[in-house]
Amino acid sequence: MSSLAVSGRQPDLTRLVPAYVKSFEAYVPSKPDPELMRTYRVDHLYRLNNNENPLGPSPRARTVIAGFPPPRASLYPSGDAYYLRLRLAERFGLDPEQFLVGNGANEVITFAIKAFCESGDNIVTADKTFAVYEWVATFSGFEARLAPLKDFGFDDEGLLSLIDGRTKIVFICNPNNPTGTWWDEARLRRFLDCLDGRQIVVVDEAYCEFAEDPAFPDGLKLLKEYPNLVVFRTFSKMFALAGLRIGYLAGSLEVVEVMRRTCVVYSVNTLAQEAALATMEDADAHVAATRELVRREKAYLARELTGLGLAVQAGEGCFVMARLPMSDTLAYRRLMAQGIMIRSMTGFRFPNWIRISIGLHPAMEAFVQGLKKIL
Ligand SMILES: *Cc1c(COP(=O)(O)O)cnc(C)c1O
Repeated sequence: MSSLAVSGRQPDLTRLVPAYVKSFEAYVPSKPDPELMRTYRVDHLYRLNNNENPLGPSPRARTVIAGFPPPRASLYPSGDAYYLRLRLAERFGLDPEQFLVGNGANEVITFAIKAFCESGDNIVTADKTFAVYEWVATFSGFEARLAPLKDFGFDDEGLLSLIDGRTKIVFICNPNNPTGTWWDEARLRRFLDCLDGRQIVVVDEAYCEFAEDPAFPDGLKLLKEYPNLVVFRTFSKMFALAGLRIGYLAGSLEVVEVMRRTCVVYSVNTLAQEAALATMEDADAHVAATRELVRREKAYLARELTGLGLAVQAGEGCFVMARLPMSDTLAYRRLMAQGIMIRSMTGFRFPNWIRISIGLHPAMEAFVQGLKKIL
C-alpha cells in the first residue's frame, strides 16, 4: 500500500489544469445545520439564507414522498422525466419536447452554456444577480460580461452595450435574486425585439410564482413569438422541493433540440420527478397560501427594518435585502450566535448588505430581535 503511494507520481497539475480552472475560486457551501449549531453553540437554527419555502412541500407532494416504495430506489428513473414533461406541456399549453428537466435549475444553466458556447464566446448578464450563470461560464473557459445594475434592476442599455458578435447567451433573472426587481412584459419584449434572434435570451423565472403584479410577464407565453427565448423554472423555491433537486427549462422546439444534446440523462431522480408531478396537482392552493405568508411577513420585515433606519431593497420574491451600518460578514456571525442564519451579501458584490429569506412569523421576530441586539 504505502510503497505504491510512494512510487505514485504526483499529477502534473500545472500542465493538466486549464488556466480558467486554475484561477477560479471554488464556492464554499455552508456546513450542515448540526455542525453549525455546534460551532455557534446554539440549540436551534432559523434558516433564512436560502430562500426556502417555510411551509414545506404541498400536501400531494408530501404524500408521494412519504409513500415512496423503497424497492423503486434500485431502478433507474425516467431518463427524460417523461411524465413530468407531459404534465408541464398540458399545464402550459406547450409541446412536451419543449421542456428539459434537470437536477435543479442549476443544472439546466449548464445545458444552455454547453450547447451554445465555444472557445472565444461570451455570455452577458448583470453584475449583481444569481451568480451561477457567471460561474459556469467562467470555469468552462468563457467570458462572463457583467452589466452593472441600474436602480437595483437589470439595465437593458447596459446589457446591450456589452453584446458583441461572440455573445451567445444573455441571462436575465426575473425577478432578480437578490434585489427583487423585475421587467414587465413590455420591457422584456422590447429587449427581445432588439436582439432579434442573434443571441439566446434566458429568462430565469425561479421566483415567478411569487410575483403578484399583473404586469409581471409569463415567459412561457412568449415562447411562440420569440424562438430564441429560453425560460428557466424550478421546484425548489415556491414548491419547496429544494432538497430533491429538480428544475427545468423551456424553449422553442429547435432550440431545445440542440440543448438536449448536452444534457445528462438520469440526472433527475425518481422521487424528485414524482414529487414534482404531484405538486402540480395542488399547486394553486399551495401558491396562494405561500403568497399570503410572504406578503404579510415581507411587509412586517420591511416595516421593522425601515423603523431601524436601514435602507431596504425588496420587490417580488421571497426575500428582502437590508443595508447594515456594519460588516455583513460580522453581522452573519453575530446573528448565527443567536441561531439566525441570513445571507451576507459581500459575495454578491453588495458589501454591508444582507439578504433575509421570508420565514414564519416567529423566525421573522427572532431575526428582528437578533438584529436589534447587534446594531
Ligand atoms: C435558487 C435559484 C436557482 C436554482 O434553483 P435550483 O434549486 O437549482 O433549482 C436558479 N435561479 C435563481 C435565480 C435562484 O434563486
